[in-house]
Amino acid sequence: MKISTITNWAYGVTVILTALSGTAFILSVRSAHDERRSVEEHLALIGLADQLEIEAELRTDEARLYVMRGDTIHLEAFEVANAEEHRLEEKARHADENGATQNELVLFEQIRSQIDTLETLELEGIEASKAGNDEAARSILFGEEHYRHHIQLVENVARFREVVEARTTEALEIAKLRSDWYGLIARILLGITAALFLGVLYFVLRRRVALPLKRMSGIVNRLATQDYEVEVPLENRSDEIGELNAAIHIFRQNGLERERLDMESQREVKMKDLFLQMMHRLQACQRLEELSDVVSIFAPHIFPDLSGGLYVINEQRTALKQVGFWKTPQSSLPEFSPHSCWGFRRGCAHVSHSSREDVMCSHLTDTASVALCVPLTAQGDIIGLLSFTGPADDETSIIEAQLYLKMIAENVALAVANLQLRERLTQLAVRDGLTGLFNRRSLDQALREKAGESEPARLTCLMLDIDKFKRFNDEFGHDAGDLVMQSFAGLLTEVVGDRGDCYRYGGEEFAVLLPEMPREDAFRIAEDIRTRTARMALSHRGMVLGLVTVSIGLADTPQGGVVSSLRTRADVALLKAKDAGRDRTVCEEDGDLRQAAG
Ligand code: GH3
Ligand code: MG
Ligand code: MG
Repeated sequence: MKISTITNWAYGVTVILTALSGTAFILSVRSAHDERRSVEEHLALIGLADQLEIEAELRTDEARLYVMRGDTIHLEAFEVANAEEHRLEEKARHADENGATQNELVLFEQIRSQIDTLETLELEGIEASKAGNDEAARSILFGEEHYRHHIQLVENVARFREVVEARTTEALEIAKLRSDWYGLIARILLGITAALFLGVLYFVLRRRVALPLKRMSGIVNRLATQDYEVEVPLENRSDEIGELNAAIHIFRQNGLERERLDMESQREVKMKDLFLQMMHRLQACQRLEELSDVVSIFAPHIFPDLSGGLYVINEQRTALKQVGFWKTPQSSLPEFSPHSCWGFRRGCAHVSHSSREDVMCSHLTDTASVALCVPLTAQGDIIGLLSFTGPADDETSIIEAQLYLKMIAENVALAVANLQLRERLTQLAVRDGLTGLFNRRSLDQALREKAGESEPARLTCLMLDIDKFKRFNDEFGHDAGDLVMQSFAGLLTEVVGDRGDCYRYGGEEFAVLLPEMPREDAFRIAEDIRTRTARMALSHRGMVLGLVTVSIGLADTPQGGVVSSLRTRADVALLKAKDAGRDRTVCEEDGDLRQAAG
């Protein structure tokens, strides 16, 4: 429950309790007033009855003294007492104004009647005395009848007193009890109100002042140690504590923003550093595999949230093939047609995301993720693709990273183009242009490298020379001679396969190096080449070129043997094959030759 609700309720209850307490006090005061009025009624009625009795007795006394002494002073005093008696009787007749009940009024009436009877007797006695009949006067005033009426008057007054006493005492008791009760209730309500007020005051001070201040002091201490993780609850208070809280909140927001900017700048610096490192390494790559490794290692560090792959287009430009990837899941096929990528087709970065109203690349397997395809363009030619994939619900991070991703793509493209150019130049330097085989320099290089090894492995060298080659040039033209050369080179590559390397040594002379192969196997390969050459059926411009034969010289060197003389020895064996009549394989064998001929 909200503090404002609690305090509002508490204030409401306090007001109600205060009102009730006030009402109880008013009722208590009213009861006290009733109590006082009961006492006053009691005193007034009892006093009136007593005065009536006293005045009646005084009047009787004066009447008796007049009868006894005959002094008119007593007669006058009788008259005064009688007049007073009449005044009191008149007052008694309106005793209801003093709170007398009906019963009490009846009693008053009886008292008045007694007094009137006594008055009649006393006036009779006075008249008898005035007439000189003292005896009769005395018998009236001191007689039995007067005495009886006087006794009845005393009894009636006593009874009246009792009745009034009983009634007023009860009323007094009730008024007193009520007054006490109301007083007690008022005090209890006042106590509860005070307790509630103090409770609410304590609660409000504790909850609204002490606790917020304590909490804020803890928050400030944590903020002072740059711990911006601390939560600053926003309190919509318009007092000083609310202002303090708002100020702390702003301070924390500023701290967080500063921390975020610091982190962003650190990340930017780290990203640039990684980017530069990656660029330096890309420049130093000598093979596509190395380049792919560099990209696959650095890309996930620069963009931790993105997975991706590096694709290079094949020579025929029919397929983009993945040469490296980083992080999973991979959302793109490992090999696909360039047409299935809109980035490749348009020659610029393309974002594919199901939430976008745009075409999506069909090489993507996970259409829920957001993907960015950046073509690798070098010297106006698209040579590959960098594909990045981010989480489905975070398109902005990949969009924001686009600038860097494009810069990476530019640099990777340049590096790939350089490698491809280098590869082409290398191929030109080491291969023969007509046949595609390694050239003589490569052979010399390979033999030099072997010779440089401390313990060279067993190596066999075949030297091959097409027999009477000049004839093809002379009879069918130079192009026909080239065709024979290319066809023979193709056959050579096919037969040797990955068991060795084939070279064009010069003109129509070729060489084959077969590493770690027993002489018998090498000899068998040489013979295979020779026999399959003889079976080649070549024609040029509709003319059958005729039989092509080859002479082969074979020399080998055992493990750890001398490599430097290997080619020369194979050459010697070849010469011997020529001398022996061509179309044969001559194997160098300790100066003697083993031969096979067609
Ligand atoms: P032999 O059986 O003794 O080896 O006789 P040959 O005719 O094969 O040998 P020769 O050395 O007399 O002739 C080789 C010829 O090969 C000479 C040269 O014109 C020709 N030749 C060299 N290089 C090429 C080439 O690239 N293309 C063509 N068409 N001919 C070439
Ligand atoms: Mg020849
Ligand atoms: Mg020759």
